[in-house]
Amino acid sequence: MLDKPPAAIDQTLLARFAAIVGEKYAITDPAMQAPYVVEMRDMFPGHTPMVLRPATVAEVADILKLANATATPIVPQGGNTGLVGGQTPLNNEIVLSLNRLDRIREVDPVSNTMTCEAGVTLQRAREAAAAVNRLYPQLLPSEGTCTIGGNLSTNAGGTAAIAYGVSRSHVLGIEVVLADGRILKDLNKLKKDNTGYDLKNLFIGAEGTLGVITAAVLRLVPRPRSIETAFVGLPSPAAALALLTLVADAAGGNVTSYELMTRSALELALRHAAGCRDPLAAPHPWYVLIELSSQAKSGPRDVIEDLLAQGLKRGLVADATIADSLDQAKMFWRIREMLGEAQRHAGGSIKHDVSVPVAAVPEFLKEADAAATGLIPGARPMPFGHLGDGNIHYNVIQPEGADKAEFLKRWDDMNAAIFAVVKKYGGSISAEHGVGALKRDLLPSVKDPVSFELMKSLKRMLDPKNILNPGKMLAP
Ligand SMILES: Cc1cc2nc3c(=O)[nH]c(=O)nc-3n(C[C@H](O)[C@H](O)[C@H](O)COP(=O)(O)OP(=O)(O)OC[C@H]3O[C@@H](n4cnc5c(N)ncnc54)[C@H](O)[C@@H]3O)c2cc1C
Repeated sequence: MLDKPPAAIDQTLLARFAAIVGEKYAITDPAMQAPYVVEMRDMFPGHTPMVLRPATVAEVADILKLANATATPIVPQGGNTGLVGGQTPLNNEIVLSLNRLDRIREVDPVSNTMTCEAGVTLQRAREAAAAVNRLYPQLLPSEGTCTIGGNLSTNAGGTAAIAYGVSRSHVLGIEVVLADGRILKDLNKLKKDNTGYDLKNLFIGAEGTLGVITAAVLRLVPRPRSIETAFVGLPSPAAALALLTLVADAAGGNVTSYELMTRSALELALRHAAGCRDPLAAPHPWYVLIELSSQAKSGPRDVIEDLLAQGLKRGLVADATIADSLDQAKMFWRIREMLGEAQRHAGGSIKHDVSVPVAAVPEFLKEADAAATGLIPGARPMPFGHLGDGNIHYNVIQPEGADKAEFLKRWDDMNAAIFAVVKKYGGSISAEHGVGALKRDLLPSVKDPVSFELMKSLKRMLDPKNILNPGKMLAP
């Protein structure tokens, strides 16, 4: 998506930017830039004159001061795992990579907080919490690469949001460099602080359009002493939903994951992802992966066994297995985590990261399937995702033997058909991945006009020269 022809940035100005971080960390060699300008789906090829890799907050502030003074556009970037093109320089912007800003400044197991810089990977943050017997309860399949700054900027969801919420729920305080280089220091460790507007939440989910997050105080929780993981075969999404109600009534906040998938998606993972085996003896049209966690040492084994027995009796469960070892639980999770990747092998896939009220998921799926196959006969819907949050990755795979490029040309038509169903159920066209470049032009049609106007006013106020990720989320 090019909003305007790439503007060349003057060499003298580039040298001034490079001087802030040092030549070694101002990358101009196209081969070395490659990991920063292409994202994993290869949907948004980018181009940049320079990738800047500051190591301190002061360097980030100096970069933004100079960018603001010279009206030079900047794209903040964390782990480059975003799925909506938000982190890619689509109009020849400078990339500001935060991945050297990677100190864990403090872990405080008594206050249950951890202060991390933006470039700390989610995996490292979780390991640091585990080292003091605490849990940082954000769980994404991209955890080895994605960063705390990127998670907060996208308000990431993931597979534990049913119990612990999305990124926003994990943040107590934040440090942000504003467009003009001022540093907003609100590294608050307090749960209770009613001293005015909650500014941190402006920057969480802003996708780098309002400021550059440099650090955050994250909330930790006690580490569960026992976890039970079950893989359940079911006849339908309606049965999966009814089982969720049973499970939630019995286990409440101990339900830490509830993930839905189709047989067709499972088969692709079995075929294409090493180490995956079918957990159940016979095939079933739908599956859920359930995880219950508990502080009790003996664990929620009895609870899950009882729930599955009740589910069987009521015809909600066709078959189920509970992991007997950590390795088996990991294998169940590997199937879930490989679903997106495995779908690549089936050809073109038109993707939708949507949410509807949890109770509406079965009807949504039925109508979305009808809309998808009505538009392209033979198209293969392969939805999966976070049923417990009403968040479905509604992917539609090309018909068997169809031409991939021709199928992908129908991306916008397919989106329109599926989003119409989402709208009918009062859902969201972007549940957890954000808006970025991919959904920017759809935003005016789905946001309340007053909210949308306020968003634009905030952008003008905080970034009057439009240097921060211009053209992402909001049109320039
Ligand atoms: C295999 C896979 C599985 C995934 N699963 C999930 C999932 O279950 N749930 C989910 O929500 N997402 C998921 N994602 C998407 C992605 O991992 C998340 O959006 C993640 O939060 C992005 O983090 P990142 O560090 O890679 O950010 P990037 O991709 O680098 O950036 C994302 C956005 O944040 C901005 N940004 C990055 N860092 C900063 C900063 N410090 N300050 C200001 N702005 C910044 C960028 O400009 C961009 O707009 C998945 C991705 C992959 C590849």
